[in-house]
Amino acid sequence: MEISYLSDGAVPAVYLRGMDQDGGNRTEIGELGEFGLIDRIASQFQQPHAAVVRGIGDDAAVLQTGGDHYLLWSTDTLAEGIHFDLAYMPLRHLGFKAVASNVSDICAMNGKATAITVGLGLSNRFSVEAVDELYSGIRLACDRYGIALVGGDTTASPKGLVIHIGIVGQVAPDRIAYRSGAKPGDILCVSGDLGAAYLGLQILEREKRIFLQHPEMQPDLSKFPYLIERQLKPEARVKTVEALEKAGVVPSSMIDISDGLSSEVFHLHRHSGVDFSVFEEKLPLDQSTYDQALAFNLDPGTCALNGGEDYELLFTVRQEDWEKVVDLEGITAIGYATEAGMGMQYISKAGNVHPLMALGWQHGRSQD
Ligand code: ADP
Ligand code: MG
Repeated sequence: MEISYLSDGAVPAVYLRGMDQDGGNRTEIGELGEFGLIDRIASQFQQPHAAVVRGIGDDAAVLQTGGDHYLLWSTDTLAEGIHFDLAYMPLRHLGFKAVASNVSDICAMNGKATAITVGLGLSNRFSVEAVDELYSGIRLACDRYGIALVGGDTTASPKGLVIHIGIVGQVAPDRIAYRSGAKPGDILCVSGDLGAAYLGLQILEREKRIFLQHPEMQPDLSKFPYLIERQLKPEARVKTVEALEKAGVVPSSMIDISDGLSSEVFHLHRHSGVDFSVFEEKLPLDQSTYDQALAFNLDPGTCALNGGEDYELLFTVRQEDWEKVVDLEGITAIGYATEAGMGMQYISKAGNVHPLMALGWQHGRSQD
């Protein structure tokens, strides 16, 4: 389709005013939701290039570029006021977290990250020293994960800070893990522990509120080192990918937990065409997560299910591989896959069966 501004008569401002060019009603993005919008975009691009092994829909795109490995390619944008608050997020930590969350998407394909690009939108609120701080965190993450910074883009931004990271990695074709490979009977596993980053965020938000009301009071975060660390400086689970390789196991499906466990279990369900049963008593929670959830009057299991930003890996393994996985450090079986139609189930500690709900992490949407 050729685009001609004049003959199409598409005055861009009309989209903002509430009408499309045919005079129809405007659809709010919130009506479709993030995933509905992505599906709509994906449905408009159905003739992929021959090199595309897997396009939109997984944690990274998969390309065949001629070598013996697949190329993995993913991208993520962090916007101030939506994904981070500089009132309590130090720029160095932000730089680290932006890279780690991208590395996590490569891990979720069972791959190894190679290089990143960094696009920055900077308002005049930011100094050269502030940019140095941000890049010191980016550098730390590059060193930690053995990846190179190979380019990027720098632009002015009318308001706030926007960080856009592109990442490439690679994986051998016989080791790749998609969201779509789970089969009934597979065991659902998770790395590390859940819910801590969410509680870290609740503590930081609370301290910010107190500080705004009483600027003379200095926040004391020293009582919650683990929860704060998990929010401000999460790690990508590169070690889990390495451990699985050493154990000779390829997960039958995998995704990383950015939006919350339940939301990611639903992605595996949707892509694999199986249902899942998840057991509350199996959910891995750090003691400090458990204690702090109760202190906030929150249900610890709900924090683990819906908290988000854990950047752990959620994956399935075939039953015959379970023996090789059971003793790996930091891996917990939390449920299993069942035939489609059995229902998405959450089994409470008391043994009651509830429907699993995918509340997920709702990022605030800014109002222009
Ligand atoms: P993740 O949480 O793993 O980063 P997302 O939920 O952001 O994944 O994205 C899911 C899939 O949709 C990915 O394959 C991503 O590349 C694709 N996607 C997201 N936004 C867009 C967009 N605006 N245009 C095309 N594809 C998109
Ligand atoms: Mg992901």
